Amino acid sequence: MIVAMQENATEEQIQTVVERMVAIGFNVHRTTGALQTILAGVGRPAQFDHKDFELLPGVSEAVRISSPYKLAGRGFRPEGTIVRFPNGVEIGGNELVVMAGPCSVEGRDQIFTCAAQVKAAGAKFLRGGAFKPRSSPYSFQGMGLEGLKLLREVGDATGLLIISEVMEISQIELMLPYVDCFQVGARNMQNFNLLRELGTVRKPVLLKRGIAATIEEVLLSAEYILSGGNYDVILCERGIRTYETYTRNTMDISAIPVIKHLSHLPIVGDPSHGTGRRDMVAPMARASVAAGADGLLIEVHPNPDKAVSDGAQSLFPEQLVRLMDELRLIAPAVGRTIMEPAAAATVAV
Ligand code: PEP
Ligand code: MN
Repeated sequence: MIVAMQENATEEQIQTVVERMVAIGFNVHRTTGALQTILAGVGRPAQFDHKDFELLPGVSEAVRISSPYKLAGRGFRPEGTIVRFPNGVEIGGNELVVMAGPCSVEGRDQIFTCAAQVKAAGAKFLRGGAFKPRSSPYSFQGMGLEGLKLLREVGDATGLLIISEVMEISQIELMLPYVDCFQVGARNMQNFNLLRELGTVRKPVLLKRGIAATIEEVLLSAEYILSGGNYDVILCERGIRTYETYTRNTMDISAIPVIKHLSHLPIVGDPSHGTGRRDMVAPMARASVAAGADGLLIEVHPNPDKAVSDGAQSLFPEQLVRLMDELRLIAPAVGRTIMEPAAAATVAV
């Protein structure tokens, strides 16, 4: 059940409603929007009539939610969620945010060079995997802790925010000091124990769509994180497996407006994994923005032909610069702003 309070509801009235909801067996999640407070009751309450709640002082409306995701649904935050980062960067607000970097952190020179290029192009986040989920156990598995330390060092040197993938519960504690945002990869979208644990941390989580996941399944996975009290979740469309083989995955652009309709959570597009082909990244990035994405996650490498993972889909740095210029034309057409390129990258490489 969702209870929307009146704009002028007092704290005492809100508390009375919360107590009534708890008394019948709900866990109550509260969100305070620009205009009103919304109380979402989740769990398996005893028999109740939601209309009784509409009679309580300060209540504007009480509605039963039949959708299986209560907290991820738009009704919980009709105006949308803005995920805020310490340096003032926001995802889900007016500005389009680009996260770019290599698939894997490979070493000091590579990540420092790439960070300078990403920053100069106008991205706000540096991405880079330290723990890598690889299809083959014989492929490069990531630099681990050493990679995380390099990410933090270069993040501090450049002012770029850091996003990196967490693959299992035991890595959460280890990663906390090094990352600004956890990435949950497609293969782990339904690792429910990991999602539950990420619900208890107070750092944003970017949740990628699973390789064969429906939109409802993505939102239910987000619900695991939200129900733990971590409301800073960003969704990511990164392509799904279909019968098409020309591209690595099929980038489901339509998922972007569908998720915007169903959920209040921000969504970013990942055209790199969505297509698997460098020549298709820019068109799908442009399409994602035109379709309403709040940001993009893009693989770029100083020397893609030498990349240890996902070289074929990694942009050359100059391609990222060109793409950002194109996005500066598209973003305003859909009511978004986007950062100008950094005047000069101030990082020694
Ligand atoms: C990645 O971002 O490098 C990655 C492994 O992505 P996905 O989980 O979407 O395959
Ligand atoms: Mn990759």
